[in-house]
Amino acid sequence: MGIKGFIKTSLVDWDGKVTSVIFLPNCNFRCPMCHNYGLILHPERYPDQDYEEIMNYLSENSDFLDGVVITGGEPTLHEGLERICKDVRNLGLKVKLDTNGYMPDKLLKLLEDDLVDYIAMDVKAPLREDIYSKLSGVKVDIERIKESIGIIKSSGIDYEFRTTVVPSLLKPEDVVEISKELSPARRFAIQQFVPENSMSKVLREIKPYDKKILEELARECKRYINEVILRA
Ligand code: SF4
Repeated sequence: MGIKGFIKTSLVDWDGKVTSVIFLPNCNFRCPMCHNYGLILHPERYPDQDYEEIMNYLSENSDFLDGVVITGGEPTLHEGLERICKDVRNLGLKVKLDTNGYMPDKLLKLLEDDLVDYIAMDVKAPLREDIYSKLSGVKVDIERIKESIGIIKSSGIDYEFRTTVVPSLLKPEDVVEISKELSPARRFAIQQFVPENSMSKVLREIKPYDKKILEELARECKRYINEVILRA
């Protein structure tokens, strides 16, 4: 199965960079707050995009693009991921990978082969199996998440860990706990929950936390991680 979505130009998917965005299908998680669940539950409903056309576009626009964001779904499940990274790199563009961190061996291989420039890994919850499984919608082996966190922190490339603060599933103190568990780390992004179009119908009715609560949370997390970004 191929690339299922392509955005030619984005200013919001890699802070400070002009990028294109590639969407890959399928995921090993079923997060109730997922917005891309169509790609996960019914990837066959989305036609494959023409690979050569995408690469031609990237080649023709490589002067104004900084890089390509590869997202999903979960890109590390995709057999063609290495090829996409290599082809993008060969055009002189950088690669940002969005991942849920559940395939540590795949991440390590990508890093060993020097195929990514930036990794944004979701850290859904404090690193305990019960709560992490709840936020991921499947039973999670938390050691795999911890392994990916370690691999990314010691990779030498730029990265961020990021948490979406879902009321009813995460309390503000859970987010502080995550920042403590990640510390020391380069960057931690706290993301506002957007109820509309969540996979869980129940969550669509949940009101996001007030921005002031998230600002306070960001201040608290800065005690453990130097750079805390609030996306609210
Ligand atoms: S890991 Fe990402 S793509 Fe997969 S279900 Fe969760 S939010 Fe959706």
